[in-house]
Formats: sequence, C-alpha cells, structure tokens
Amino acid sequence: MPNTSQYDLLIIGGGVTGSALLYLAARYSSIEHVGLIEKYAAPARVNSLSSNNSQTLHRGDIETNYSLEKALKVQRAACMLESYASTQADAHHIIFKYPKMVLAVGKQECAQLRARFEIFKQYYPKLRILEKKDIAKIEPEVAMKHGSFRDDEIVALGSTDEYSAVNFEALSRSFVRQAGLVENKRVKVHYNEEVLHITIEDNLFKIESRHTCYQARSLVVCAGGHSLKLAHDLGYGLHYSCLPIAGSYYFTPHVLNGKVYTVQNDALPFAAIHGDPDVLVPGKTRFGPTALVLPILERYNLSTLPDFFRVFRFDRKVGRALWDLLKVSDIRNYMLKNILFEIPLIRTLLFLKDARKIVPSLKLGDLSFARHVGGIRPQLIDKNNGKLLMGEAKIDTGIGAIFNMTPSPGGTSCVENAEIDLRIIIKYLGASIDETAFKHDILRQDKQHSSADYPGRVLKNDAAT
Ligand SMILES: Cc1cc2nc3c(=O)[nH]c(=O)nc-3n(C[C@H](O)[C@H](O)[C@H](O)COP(=O)(O)OP(=O)(O)OC[C@H]3O[C@@H](n4cnc5c(N)ncnc54)[C@H](O)[C@@H]3O)c2cc1C
Repeated sequence: MPNTSQYDLLIIGGGVTGSALLYLAARYSSIEHVGLIEKYAAPARVNSLSSNNSQTLHRGDIETNYSLEKALKVQRAACMLESYASTQADAHHIIFKYPKMVLAVGKQECAQLRARFEIFKQYYPKLRILEKKDIAKIEPEVAMKHGSFRDDEIVALGSTDEYSAVNFEALSRSFVRQAGLVENKRVKVHYNEEVLHITIEDNLFKIESRHTCYQARSLVVCAGGHSLKLAHDLGYGLHYSCLPIAGSYYFTPHVLNGKVYTVQNDALPFAAIHGDPDVLVPGKTRFGPTALVLPILERYNLSTLPDFFRVFRFDRKVGRALWDLLKVSDIRNYMLKNILFEIPLIRTLLFLKDARKIVPSLKLGDLSFARHVGGIRPQLIDKNNGKLLMGEAKIDTGIGAIFNMTPSPGGTSCVENAEIDLRIIIKYLGASIDETAFKHDILRQDKQHSSADYPGRVLKNDAAT
C-alpha cells in the first residue's frame, strides 16, 4: 500500500518559482500544511541552477525587447525579489550590484535608444544616457579598441548603483530554508520524488510519485515545461504546445565589469545576446544566450525527450504557428545561425562576430564554448491563436490547481508570481494573507511606477529573453 499524506497546499517543483511560493505561503498565509515535491535531491537543479540562466534581475529599463508596459510589470517583480533577497543575512550570496547598460551601435540603433530614453526616464530615475566617454569609464573594453575609441557611433542607457544580478539557485535554497523556519506551520519538502500522475477524487488532488500518493486540497505546479505535461494529464491547457528553446553561452577572459545588453532586432522573437560577469565564475565574462530549438525539456537530459513529444502535441495548428515564424527571413536566418552556434569549430568563429558588437577587440582565442551551461526556456505556442507566447504562462483551472510555465524572466518574477498564485489559492481555500507583514516586507520598495500607472500604449511586441 502506498503511503498517504494530505496537504492544504502542495507545490510541485523546487525551482525558484515553487520555492518562492513555499516561502510566501508559509510566512504570510494562514494555510496550515504546505508541502513541496521536487524530483531531484536539492532545490533549483534545472533552469534556476545558477549556471543555467543569465542571472539578470530584469527591470525592463535596458531590455529593449520589452514594451514599456511589460518593463513596468517586470520592474515591480524585481523590486519584490530585491525586498526579500537584500534583507537576508546571506544577501551577498544571493543578489549582486553590477553596472548595467544596453548598448546601441550605429546611427539607427543610437536614435532608437535616445528615443526610448525620453519615454522611459520618468519611470526609471536611475537610468542615464551614456555617451562614448561615459561608457569608457564604466566599460573601457566596450568603448575602446586597442587603446583608442572605437570608430562606430555608440550610445548606451544604463545605471551603476542597482542590484542587477541574482543567483536564482541560492535564492531558491534561501526560500526553502526560511519556509522551514516559520513557526506554527507544517512545512514539508520531499526531495527525490518525481510526480508521475495527478488525478482528482472526492474534491482532493491525488498526486502520485513512484512510491507515494499525496493528497492535497490545492495544488500549484511549478515544474517548467513538465507543468504542461501534468496539466494535459488533468485535461487542462490542451490548446498549448511547448517549444523548448535552449540557450548556450561562451566564456572569455574578464572584459566586462557589468551587464552589457544590446538593442533588439524587432523582427526576432528572442533577445539579442549580452555579456556579463558570471556570479560564480570570477575572472571571466559570459556571452549569450543563444536560442536553439531542442526536443527535450531539460538541457543535457535526453530522458526528457518523450516528455517533449507529450507537450509538443504536433498538429496542423502547431505546424501553422511554426510556419508563420519560419516565413520571416530574419527569423529563419536567426534559427539557422543558432544551429550553427552549436557546431564545434565553426561556432566560435560565428559567435565572435556577434560578441564583437559588444567588445570590438575580442579575438577568436578569447572565446570558449561554456560546456553544460545554459538551460531551456519552455516557450508556449497558443494553438488557438497560432502564436508563440513570450514570457511566463499560467493555467488557472479555477478548481484549486494552477500550472506555471516559466521561461525568462521567470527568475525575476518568482515572488510576484508566487503572490498571484497565493492569492488565488487563498481564495479557493478560504484562508487569508497577513497583508500588513507582506506589504512591509515584500512591497516596501513598491513606490516606483508600476504598470498600473501606465496609460496602456504598447510600444511593440515583447520578445523572450
Ligand atoms: C538560457 C536562459 C537564460 C535565462 N535568463 C534569465 C535571466 O537572466 N533572468 C531571469 O529572470 N530569468 C531568466 N531565465 C528564466 C529563469 O531561469 C526561469 O524562468 C526560472 O529559473 C524558472 O524557475 P522554475 O522554478 O519555474 O523552473 P525550474 O527552475 O526549471 O524548476 C522546475 C523544477 O521542477 C522540478 N520538476 C519537474 N518535473 C517534476 C516532477 N514531475 N515532479 C517533481 N518535480 C519536478 C524540476 O526538477 C525543477 O527543480 C533564463 C532561462 C534560460 C533557459
């Protein structure tokens, strides 16, 4: 007979999304019995692993692939994460201050960035226009080439005194640790348990792993691309297909002091590459990520291939959405280039051209492919509208079960996303939130502009990072 334990709220997946919800539920809600099931032996072994993402605390100011509306939403999420992380005793292992900027190269990009600044400056008081000589003071390797200023026209938008990087793995561990310390709550984390199947019986969710059958009054699945598989299992989200986009990186010796993003090509659905320090690899600079479609749900884990086919659910509508993407020559060429980025020998040569946009003096010998670095963004295709969706997606069943799919900026949004889920679950269970404590601890920096202040004009489509 399998063991049985019953929870008020059970979370599946111990990445940064699931662990943030575990903490918020334990610390700020009246929910009594909260559990988390994670298939690996520790939190954050998949996309939230420190080496599997770009470690950027996105605020929207330097991400030219974000519309103002999206930027302000992300800014609020970033402030919530910062409120938690910066007040922890081990904050210096979790959240980091680096200078950051988005660099425009050439007349057209420079004009575009200056125009963006005029719109964004009122919402981002720390954002500055950086001319060539200002850039040189922060990032000499960006503004100079072999000792003199580079020839091409450049300008940047950036700031120097803000938290801009996060170790999402350390953040996940912190959430789990802090959730376990909350008094008068039953918080239990089950590692090495893979959820295989979910059913509903007598108004309870039955969550089956190989050895155990858990019962829960409510359920939030934060299992990346696997969330969609579990949702399909229950008959939800059948109009979604998942397109996994892997991101790879390249290391160079230390050439950048902070994060340097580049201006987005509006025709592309994925963000242009950037360069930055890796919070756990001192003395190096990391460039990327690339964007390669791969038929697996976890990078470097071929056993997730069958799961990919379960969530891909190829049919005429998926075919049409993909065809619409491939019809655009910029996207077609970009996808081809990203395939070539994975082929040994030629990949470094090709990538060098893109990286030189940021650091013009880079040499071929400076670049090395970062092995086993970079995760997979589970981008969704909305089959009803034939569109590739950017950013996070959520399926709220309305019956106490939520499924989260979290490509970038899912790391940055983890606390905001947890708040959204918690409010839905609280309502469903008839529980409550300690609003005063939540506002004091988590929303304390929420004095900045939010998307609610924004009149609603979307500048352009958002692209995934
Ligand atoms: C290349 C790349 C760059 C990125 N850069 C950034 C960035 O700079 N900034 C940013 O904010 N975001 C970034 N992201 C996105 C960010 O990494 C993710 O949004 C975030 O880590 C998602 O966290 P998660 O907890 O939802 O998923 P994950 O971290 O993938 O965690 C899912 C968890 O669920 C578990 N799980 C899966 N299936 C089961 C099951 N059946 N049973 C039990 N457990 C299960 C997994 O083991 C895993 O621990 C990037 C992503 C990629 C791939």
